[in-house]
Amino acid sequence: MSTLRFKAVEEAFKKKALPVEAPSKFISDFYGKYVFTTSTMSKYLSKDVMDAIQKAVEQGETLDRSVADAVAAGMKNWAMKLGATHYTHWFQPLTDGTAQKHDSFIEYAGAPGEAVIEEFSGKLLAQQEPDASSFPNGGIRSTFEARGYTAWDPSSPAFVIDDTLCIPTIFISYTGESLDFKAPLLKSINAVNKAATAVCQYFDKKVKRVYSYLGWEQEYFLVDESLYATRPDLALTGRTLLGHESAKNQQLEDHYFGSIPSRVSAFMKDLEFEGYKYGIPLKTRHNEVAPNQFELAPIYGETNLAVDQNLLIMSLMKRVARRHGFRVLLHEKPFAGINGSGKHNNWSLGTDTGVGLFTPGKTPEENLQFITFLVNALMAVYKNNALLKASIISATNAHRLGANEAPPAIISAFLGTQINAVLDKLENSTKEEAILMDSKKRLSLGIAHIPEVLIDNTDRNRTSPFAFTGNRFEFRAVGSSANCSTAMIVLNTAMAAQLNDFKTKVDEKISQGESKQQAIFEVLKSYIKESKPIRFDGNGYSDEWKIEALRRGLDCESSVPKMIKAYTTPESIRMFESMGVMTEKELYARNEVKWEMYTKKVQIEARVLGDLAVNHVIPIATRYQSLLLDNLYKIKSVYPEDLANELSRMDKSLVEEIARHVWAIKTNVDEMIEARKVANRIEKEYEKAVAYHDQVLPYFDVIRYHADKLELIVDDEMWTLPKYRELLFVR
Ligand code: ADP
Ligand code: MG
Repeated sequence: MSTLRFKAVEEAFKKKALPVEAPSKFISDFYGKYVFTTSTMSKYLSKDVMDAIQKAVEQGETLDRSVADAVAAGMKNWAMKLGATHYTHWFQPLTDGTAQKHDSFIEYAGAPGEAVIEEFSGKLLAQQEPDASSFPNGGIRSTFEARGYTAWDPSSPAFVIDDTLCIPTIFISYTGESLDFKAPLLKSINAVNKAATAVCQYFDKKVKRVYSYLGWEQEYFLVDESLYATRPDLALTGRTLLGHESAKNQQLEDHYFGSIPSRVSAFMKDLEFEGYKYGIPLKTRHNEVAPNQFELAPIYGETNLAVDQNLLIMSLMKRVARRHGFRVLLHEKPFAGINGSGKHNNWSLGTDTGVGLFTPGKTPEENLQFITFLVNALMAVYKNNALLKASIISATNAHRLGANEAPPAIISAFLGTQINAVLDKLENSTKEEAILMDSKKRLSLGIAHIPEVLIDNTDRNRTSPFAFTGNRFEFRAVGSSANCSTAMIVLNTAMAAQLNDFKTKVDEKISQGESKQQAIFEVLKSYIKESKPIRFDGNGYSDEWKIEALRRGLDCESSVPKMIKAYTTPESIRMFESMGVMTEKELYARNEVKWEMYTKKVQIEARVLGDLAVNHVIPIATRYQSLLLDNLYKIKSVYPEDLANELSRMDKSLVEEIARHVWAIKTNVDEMIEARKVANRIEKEYEKAVAYHDQVLPYFDVIRYHADKLELIVDDEMWTLPKYRELLFVR
């Protein structure tokens, strides 16, 4: 091993698990301590103010200034008790993660230069104007103007991190267009609430509100910090651009659900304590399939809050990992040849009366409601399968999708044998049978049987990107580094539009004199027929499925820049606009941002790969080659020619092999640089992204192939970059 690499490995080996202590014996003692929860609020705010906030949250009413002032004062008092001296609007620009600009509470008490006091007004709570010219906006806000502002989202509680009060906000342009993930998410939640509540009225008049729920499962890798520091590709791009597979990786399947290594276990506990302080209901932790890969998941919650909590946990993970001498990798595919990381989005809808709309009920009526929502969800996914794929795709997630490990780059829905049987029966029922639903014969459609059979519905298909798992859909294509909002915006909006369509059709039939149940059945029947192509319970990784999916008319596009275009088809624009979630202008602007991000990510990777190949791999390989040549000369000088030729065969062939790989790397890096230059001259973001995808990206695999071959040839002692076996197994 090279000295640098040896030192890193040695250091990693030496690290011991950090002792971690809970802030208190019971989680419930410190759970949510740093969050301005409703119950905490009630200690700082008057009943009137509390009522006004509740109204604002539930009915989307704006708060008047006096209420905002009262909330701000209460928030400040609470936050100062926890040591806060600063505040920030915490928002989600169209980059990764969250953004914040901290201001302190201080104001002059009197004349300038005199004493200061801590102040926080309703105006500062409600709105802030970060100098946001450098956040991506897709041309909506011209940079010289640089005006965007953040506005308080009262439906997600404020919290204190270190010395700062963080206030969740939306981020919009001066002209009202959203520049973030949260604003359209809130609108989509609102849209699905309206549409679903209206449909629920067919079944239960008491329903006044429908919530969108999200339970995310976050996968991640941990890498020792010392090793991480010596891999420029990990540090700059979040993934390894080079590195030969380890002799042992995940083939023994001994990592999944295995015992958690002690250093990792200490990290997990520490992270959980942090999460609990912020009211994140973390529930599950375990090893994942790949070595050094893990997962954590909370109990599901209201979507807006769940998204914020996921973003918060991602940043907490990064901090806590460092405390334990780790770096956390949230990239979707940090290592080639082993599983990547996803973020399963468990999505469901539920009423304010406590009924899960994807949960099979106890009575036939409840089950009709269940089937109604299930079938509408299928239709929504069917009609928008290209858009759903666009919602989760990115430069990083592209390495994971379609890589023969969940999930494929084609969206389909898995239902399981039981539900399929119910839908098939329904589809093939006659009009008479459907009418009989009202009499005792309603059991003939099997609907009343659903609850029992679902309980042991264990044939879960891991290869499906969108699977029904008993009381929810699990959208598995979402990437581990993603903001869950993009997937949730599309799902909720598509579901809202679909439910509206359903209601229109049913009402029309009712107005023509059909009974409500009859009308619902007929529309559902037609949907079941129409949405059939989206249902697929087979192996999503197989090549046959790709052919079959194409035949079924599902979206099979595999180029990231092209997939993104699904947002601006006439149907998508109509849907987003009619649901009041995004305007055409916003949709186009967002695509610009996505293409720009795509290009930049590939560009950075290309640079890092070029550097590594030329500055690490080639020099090391030639140094080793020169040793071999040395040896050749020595053999020649010692032995007579015939014998020397025989004895130097290996050195000769290795010298030549190295030369071929080195030359291949050199020429391909040069060509890649040229391709980049050409692409960089393109002005339109879309075309530039396409050029990066089609002309630059293909060099990555070629360069890597040769570099990884050299890793196998070159003396281990000379190799500077920590190898996969070290990155994945040293901890
Ligand atoms: P698995 O790995 O088997 O899919 P996990 O227990 O890791 O399951 O995660 C399941 C996630 O789904 C959890 O966050 C859980 O709270 C969430 N979940 C359960 N029921 C629902 C529901 N009705 N709606 C949304 N999410 C749900
Ligand atoms: Mg899951």
